[in-house]
Amino acid sequence: MQVAVIGLGRFGSALAETLIERDHEVIVIDKNEKLVQRFVGKTDTAIVADATDDTVLRTLGLPDMDAVVVAIGDDVEASVLVCITLMDLGVKKIIAKAEDERHARILSRIGVQKVVQPEKESARHVADMISYPTITERFNISDRHAIVEIKAPKSFVGKRIRDLDLRRRYNVLIIGIRRKEAVFDKRADIKDLNEVFLAPPDPDGEIEEGDTLVLLAPNEAIDEIARWE
Ligand code: ATP
Repeated sequence: MQVAVIGLGRFGSALAETLIERDHEVIVIDKNEKLVQRFVGKTDTAIVADATDDTVLRTLGLPDMDAVVVAIGDDVEASVLVCITLMDLGVKKIIAKAEDERHARILSRIGVQKVVQPEKESARHVADMISYPTITERFNISDRHAIVEIKAPKSFVGKRIRDLDLRRRYNVLIIGIRRKEAVFDKRADIKDLNEVFLAPPDPDGEIEEGDTLVLLAPNEAIDEIARWE
C-alpha cells in the first residue's frame, strides 16, 4: 500500500516506522529537517516542507495513495488547512490526529473520515486493563457494542453454551471459542497442542477449561462480564 504521513512528532514517526516495517510504500513530510533526516534511507521519499503550502502537496501524487495521515496536533490551523487541501486534491482516505475534543470536532465537521486521538484511546485502553483484568482484548465495533475476549470463567466449564443462556440474561453472544486441542502420536501420547477457533460455536457444545471466549457484548454488559468467575 502507499501511505503518506504528514507530521513526524512521536505519533507520526511511530506510525511511519510501523508502516515501513510492514513493507508499505511510505512518504513522510515534516517542516522540521531533523525529524525528516531520521527517515532517510528507510523510505525513498522523505520531504522537508511546510504542508500548508498546497503547491508542495500537489506535486506528490497524494490522490493515488491508499491513505494520507495528518499527524499535526498542536497547530490546529495547520492541521485543518492541510486536511482541506487534501480533500480538494481528491485524496480518498484521510486519517487525522486530533489534540483534543475541540480539534476532533472541527476535523469531523470539515469532513475528515477518520479522526484519531491516540493519547485518549491508549489511556482508555490502559484504564480498561486496570478496571477489567479478566478481559484480555476489547475492540469497540460501534458506540454501543464491543467484541471482548475472556478466559472461560471456572463456573462456565462443563456447561453447554445453550444452558449458559447469556443472550437472554445479558444480551451477550459467544461468537467464537479459541481452544487448544491435543495432537496425539501413534502411542496416544500428546505430541503437540493445536489452537483451533470454533466460530460460530455449537450451542450444544460444552465450554472446556482453558478456552478463550470471544463475546459480542453491549457496553452495559462489560462490568458484568468482568465479574464472571
Ligand atoms: P506527538 O505525536 O509528538 O504528540 P503532536 O501532535 O504534539 O505530536 P505537533 O508537535 O503538533 O505534534 O506536530 C507534529 C509534527 O508535525 C512536528 O514534527 C511538526 O514539525 C510537524 N508540523 C507541524 N506543522 C507542520 C506543517 N505545517 N508542515 C509540516 N509539518 C508540520
